[in-house]
Parts: sequence; structure tokens; C-alpha cells
Amino acid sequence: MSFSSMVKEELCKVAGKPCCQLAELAALLHGGASLQLARGEKRLIFRAESAVVARRAFTLLKGVFSLKPQLYAFQRGASGRKGYRVAAAGAGAELVLEATGLVKRKEGGLALSRRVPLSLLRRDCCKRAYLRGAFLAGGYLSDPEKAYHLEFTPGDEGYARSLCLFLIRRGVAAKEITRKETRLVYVKDSEQIVLLLSLMGAHAALLTMESVRVTKEVRNRVNRIVNCEQANIGKIMDAAQRQIAAIESIERNAAFQRLSPALRRMAEMRIEYPDLPLKELGELFSPPIGKSAVNHRLRKLEEIARDLNEEHGQE
Ligand SMILES: [Zn+2]
Repeated sequence: MSFSSMVKEELCKVAGKPCCQLAELAALLHGGASLQLARGEKRLIFRAESAVVARRAFTLLKGVFSLKPQLYAFQRGASGRKGYRVAAAGAGAELVLEATGLVKRKEGGLALSRRVPLSLLRRDCCKRAYLRGAFLAGGYLSDPEKAYHLEFTPGDEGYARSLCLFLIRRGVAAKEITRKETRLVYVKDSEQIVLLLSLMGAHAALLTMESVRVTKEVRNRVNRIVNCEQANIGKIMDAAQRQIAAIESIERNAAFQRLSPALRRMAEMRIEYPDLPLKELGELFSPPIGKSAVNHRLRKLEEIARDLNEEHGQE
């Protein structure tokens, strides 16, 4: 199951207070409902891609308006994927749309509203319920392992603007964008997504998101350390190769026996342990010598090699 579906499943289990039910239903219907005229009768149709969301709309319609809706599954086009439809007929259908602020009466007819119905959302809990409904109807959240991206597909530009502003007023840094001629409202930052999940009441999703975020941070930190250590190992190897080249050049110039016993021992040890860091190399001496003494002796060997090369006209 996708991360998005898991969030929706969790949201459908949130037990909204009676005052919040209308708010959630309003957002759900705004995202997926239409009014149809069939055989002289008005029918409210709500479409959803998932069964849990369709059931949620069904329960709310029944609970809030005492309607007798019907829920059925159907095949969606050529894809063969299942879609779900909740239908309610009769005088109640129009009333639902009006009461949820989806349509407004204008000059005897009905006009579609393209705004978040703020008059229904006076309480903070109802504002949160509205966000929950909006996500259930047209929300998508990427798997946080892959990307931090949450979006709403509000359907039209006016509603997108209104929903975006509504989110911004709740402290969520939402933005708008047009993709493939569809106006989207999206949230990118992981902290902002976490805030929105908490407002909607998706606490399990929020915890998953936080744990993925921490794991990613640790992974990045470990990678940085490993890269840094590899760079250091590279440097140690470069220095050791330079030192060995110096010792070999001293041997070529038959100057090895002229080295002081301390330097000769150092040269032998470096040849024997070509890739040991200075500190460990010093510990193999008896008695052990410190890192700076090892460093000093190896520099001395390099200096001698340089002098010999200059003397003999070699590079
Ligand atoms: Zn409420």
C-alpha cells in the first residue's frame, strides 16, 4: 500500500466531533462531488479512488444529513482499476450541497462556490477536520523515503487559491503550481508536512515521517564521515609513497649505511609497514616513539634523499 493510502486510511479512523463532521464532509464533497440531473431528479454523486474514502463520505452523508446514500464500485475506464461512487438522490441532495457551502443560491438557480466555506469553520477543530477532508478527497503524499512532497488537486484555480490561503493561515507554507493544466497546491518541506499531518490528526504517519527523517540524517552524517576518512587514508597513502620513494633513492645512492641508526631503523620500519599511519608506526618501536618523532625522522629521510638527488643531478 502506498504511503498516501496509509495516511488516508488513518485519517478515516479519526473520530470527528459532531461539529467537525459537516466541515470534513464539506471538504470531501468539494474535492469529489457533482450534482447530476437524471430522469427529472437531482442526484448527488461523490467519486473516490479508494474504498475507505468512499465509505467515509457515505457514513458522513448518512450521519449528518440522515440521507440514504448508496455506495457502489465500478471499473474505471480501460485501466480496469476500481473506482467508488456514493450517490444520494432526492431533495436532500441539493440541501447537502448548499449546507456544505459547495453551492450558493443565486437568482433562483444554484452557483458553484470556489471558496473554502469559512462560515462553517469557526472552531479550530472544524478547521482541522476540513483539512482532513481536503486531503481525503484530493490529497497525495509521497513516500518520505523518496521525497518530501504533499499535494492537493483542488480541481479549479479559484478553489486552489482559497485552499492555499487557508493552509497558509494555519501556518503551513503551501504554494500553488500549474502542472499539466491542473492547478495544484503543494507543500515541500518535511517540517511543514509534519505540521500538516499533525493538524489533520495523522499521528502514526507523522511518527513514520519523523523516523525516516532521523534515519536519513544519520545516514548522511555517516556518509560524510566515511568520505572524510577515505580522504584522510588517501593522504596517508600519498605521504607513505613519498617516504618510500625517498628511502629507495637513498638506497640507490648507496647512502643507506651512512644513515644514523635511528634513521636507518625508521627507514626499515617504513619499508616493512608501508601503509601504517605514523602513530601506529611509532608504537612498533622499542621503546615506542611518538607520532611527532616518527614524522620528524621521515621528513629527515626525505630531506636526505632530496640532497642526494641534487648532488647526483637526479630528479
Ligand atoms: Zn469541530
